[in-house]
Amino acid sequence: MKTIIEPFRIKSVEPIRMTTRAERERLIREADFNLFSLASDDVLIDLLTDSGTGAMSSEQWAAIMRGDESYAGSPSFYRFEAAVKNLMPFKHIIPTHQGRAAESILFAMLGGAGQIIPNNTHFDTTRGNIEASGARADDLVIAEGTDPTSLHPFKGNMDLERLTAHLEEHGDAVPCVMLTITNNAGGGQPVSLENIRATAEIAHKFGKLFIIDGCRFAENAFFIKTREPGQGNREIVDIVRDCFAVADAMTMSAKKDGFGNIGGWLAINDDDLAVEARTHLIRTEGFPTYGGMSGRDLDALAQGLTEIVDEDYLRYRLRTNAYIVEKLVKLGIPVVQPAGGHAVFIDARAWLSHVDPLAYPGQAVAVALYEIGGIRSCEIGTAMFGRQPDGSEKPAAMDLVRLAFPRRTYTQSHADYIVEAFEELQGIISTLKGYKIVEEPALMRHFTCKFEKM
Ligand SMILES: *Cc1c(COP(=O)(O)O)cnc(C)c1O
Repeated sequence: MKTIIEPFRIKSVEPIRMTTRAERERLIREADFNLFSLASDDVLIDLLTDSGTGAMSSEQWAAIMRGDESYAGSPSFYRFEAAVKNLMPFKHIIPTHQGRAAESILFAMLGGAGQIIPNNTHFDTTRGNIEASGARADDLVIAEGTDPTSLHPFKGNMDLERLTAHLEEHGDAVPCVMLTITNNAGGGQPVSLENIRATAEIAHKFGKLFIIDGCRFAENAFFIKTREPGQGNREIVDIVRDCFAVADAMTMSAKKDGFGNIGGWLAINDDDLAVEARTHLIRTEGFPTYGGMSGRDLDALAQGLTEIVDEDYLRYRLRTNAYIVEKLVKLGIPVVQPAGGHAVFIDARAWLSHVDPLAYPGQAVAVALYEIGGIRSCEIGTAMFGRQPDGSEKPAAMDLVRLAFPRRTYTQSHADYIVEAFEELQGIISTLKGYKIVEEPALMRHFTCKFEKM
């Protein structure tokens, strides 16, 4: 059969509250044109993030009932730990309430003034935690990774030559080399197994820790299976194990490829570093056998981790994005190609060539999509990354709009509706105006800043 169906039936449904266009125009104005400030009841299709927004399976709900809330030594923790170690054979698994808590602990240990941390592309919370510690975050993705039209199969790859030069130049200031799979901020693009291994080798040659930000490890593994020579006949779990076998540590948001509504972890091989991390954990998150989670969360994740590596699920998951990207390309809308793992990315800078990057063309597209179709997306561009540590402003590498798909939540008719909204937007694109930021905090401003239409 050619049609790839959602490989599940629906057992429990949530109604969507319908809104009118006039209502939405008022609501987004009242939200200061920041989509994060909207009430989710006022959103028809919520593609703000794929983080923690997925549907849990009936087995996960059953696992929730199994959850044991003992403060110390809960069996839920041991089931969680075993499920993680089955995929990622690290020595110490340290549970946190989200990925950013793992990052915060990691950079409390490895960051600090004068330190420099390279990555293919740091995600916003990773960069935020590094900069908050006083360290610097450098992005060294391959050149194709910032070219929205390049069809390179692994656009998330680390630029190995630049990494080597970076380590030769900054040597002692670099405590670790990071690699984000898939590369979220760079369009959800995958990293090849070959590149993961080569990055690890370079890091180790220079005596640095190699740390994977593994938020979308399963999607990345499916890309490896389908795109990397010699990987086509392998099991997803074996590919996943190979990816992490060369790493010294990992950070994880279980709200992504953990099928969780909350959760994360920091995994480490080094005993001394693990002791230090657990000390931070107890102070900021909780006791080492629950971290920032409840026993119920731990059990839901233990089950989720067995489901996320299912090939039928991953095939359907990646097909959703490719389906929408194909339709948008036919409409002549500039999108990042090939389709990313968890999201569709619109190249707003190319689409709104009449809007200066410093007037946030991505924000203009995101607001218009909401007004037209009630679709909530997320600007990933100059509004998110443009503010420099010294307070000045600079265009980001790209101005993208991300439509991130919650896992197992929307169906094909939702996808067709999204395409229709884009078709309507295409008709008025030349009339869209830019935005200016009128109020912002010093770090990660996009979550709370206020915009005004120009
Ligand atoms: C979501 C995400 C994080 C942070 O995780 P949270 O659970 O949202 O705190 C870090 N890195 C990447 C690549 C992410 O996608």
